[in-house]
Amino acid sequence: MQAKNRDVLHRRRQFTRLFYHRNHGSLILAMAATLLGAGLNLALSWLLQQTLDLAAGTGATWTLRQLVLFALGLLACCVVIDAMSAYARPKFLSRAIAQYREYAYAELLKKNLTSFTRENTSVYLSALSNDANSIETNYLQKMFEFWGDAVLFAGALAMMFWYSVPLALVALVLSALPLAVSMLLGPRLAKAETRVSAENAAYVAALKEGLNGFSVVKSFQAEREAFDLFAKNSRRVQTAKCRRLRIGSILGSVGSTAGAVAQLGVFLTGCWMALSGQGVTPGVMVIFVNLMGCANLFVSALPDFVSNHTACNALIDKLAGALAVNLQTAGRAIPRRLEQGIAVEGLTFGYAPGQPVLHGVTARFEAGKSYAVVGASGSGKSTLLRLLMAGGSGYGGGSGYGGSIRYDGAELRGVSTDSLYELVSLVEQNVFVFDSSIHDNITMFRDFPQEQVDRAVRLSGLQPLIEAKGESYQCGENGANLSGGERQRISIARSLLRQAPVLLVDEATAALDKETAFQVSGAILDLDGLTRIVVTHALDEALLRRYDGILVLKNGAVAECGRFDELMARKGYFYSLYTVAQ
Ligand code: ADP
Repeated sequence: MQAKNRDVLHRRRQFTRLFYHRNHGSLILAMAATLLGAGLNLALSWLLQQTLDLAAGTGATWTLRQLVLFALGLLACCVVIDAMSAYARPKFLSRAIAQYREYAYAELLKKNLTSFTRENTSVYLSALSNDANSIETNYLQKMFEFWGDAVLFAGALAMMFWYSVPLALVALVLSALPLAVSMLLGPRLAKAETRVSAENAAYVAALKEGLNGFSVVKSFQAEREAFDLFAKNSRRVQTAKCRRLRIGSILGSVGSTAGAVAQLGVFLTGCWMALSGQGVTPGVMVIFVNLMGCANLFVSALPDFVSNHTACNALIDKLAGALAVNLQTAGRAIPRRLEQGIAVEGLTFGYAPGQPVLHGVTARFEAGKSYAVVGASGSGKSTLLRLLMAGGSGYGGGSGYGGSIRYDGAELRGVSTDSLYELVSLVEQNVFVFDSSIHDNITMFRDFPQEQVDRAVRLSGLQPLIEAKGESYQCGENGANLSGGERQRISIARSLLRQAPVLLVDEATAALDKETAFQVSGAILDLDGLTRIVVTHALDEALLRRYDGILVLKNGAVAECGRFDELMARKGYFYSLYTVAQ
């Protein structure tokens, strides 16, 4: 438990130090402005006392001329302090949040591919938008207010004791009143804030789904249902926000009422002391009321500070915790070439405990050859491919699969993900295309010699498209300006350009028409020198004949394997799959 807490604290510190990293200048300037502002407030109280006592003839130490000069000096300081604050605070805040977000995103990019695909991305969407805003206003902004008010509080107390010890003691006792009342409500505010964050994540998830599934909603005329789903989540987040606001305003009003009672108490006590000749002047009475106001600022806002701080720490912990799950493990780097092949032995895997999806899969994929993985839907083809791509951490933080996966004899569990991604390239059915040019999408925004780009274009069959539209043709949001086949070819060209020796292809042609699918699959089979493992459900004889081996999966186990002719001659499971498909 203690180790876990230490872990959480350590991760939180990693994030919070990002607020201050290379941001000390602005922080110091902004904090200095805040603290000087507090000092200014105290000086104003003193000026008030002196002015009143000068007017009443009750013991002012300064002359009117001195007081006017002092007031002018304070005014000038006020202008300078405001300018300092206006310059430094926004600068500090914007840099702090930018660094926080960038660090979180960089950590996110380090995540293992397989672990990321199993997560709900709305956690990150919410953490890097709404939660980050909340941290900016409720954590960082409030930090300045906290220290400003704390200095004001300490200064006010010191001045009170300097003016009159008995009255200061009364003020101290009465200050406990707003503190006690608002401390009771503080924890509720923290809980309400955490709830807002959770509801917001659900809302973002629903919104994301609604937008992604727009075409399904339209074609099934499910607008009403989609709207209801959206409205439900939207209302829930607003209800949570409303609750937080309500607790906040109750806290504020209870705090300020208690503060006013305390102020009045000091005023009346001061009045009584003045009347009973205990050396309290009208100026001192007024300055006490004023100083009580200053002290109350801190006292009544303290629970708000504490609960906001706690709530924001919880938000940081949530993000840091999510990012820490299945982070890449630093394994051994393997060379960027495959000489013998990939050996899978007794591979067992399940997404949930006790529900295995793969049962003892054993297969051998020789370097430089091409293999097809076939089987009915749900037989575990994609799972097998994802495990080959899983790298050091894999599913479930490293011990996810049973059996072994060896690249040239190196067991995947001990291999660093970075070096595995250098070796292996994945072409998926759902190709992500950036809203940029064809060239950028092929190169993934990196620089490559033009002849390498041309080769990838030629081999992936993208040449006709580029001849017609040019490399700078804009692909549109997620490739909206391209056909399915063109998107697939971009994805293949991308993989080819990386020149990874192993190409894993997951049902890449499933969404294409028969002819395009044939051409794309043919293009993959034409790539000499690469080790290719292609998950396919297009059982086309002309293509299947070209594979060096076909692995047939049935309910997560290998039913058969061999070349097309051998499998057909065996008249087993593959034969029936193939015959039904025809
Ligand atoms: P195939 O590619 O052969 O269609 P998959 O490997 O995608 O099969 O799926 C095999 C089984 O694993 C299916 O029963 C599927 O429901 C389950 N499965 C796939 N992905 C996940 C996942 N991310 N979480 C839980 N179960 C999954």
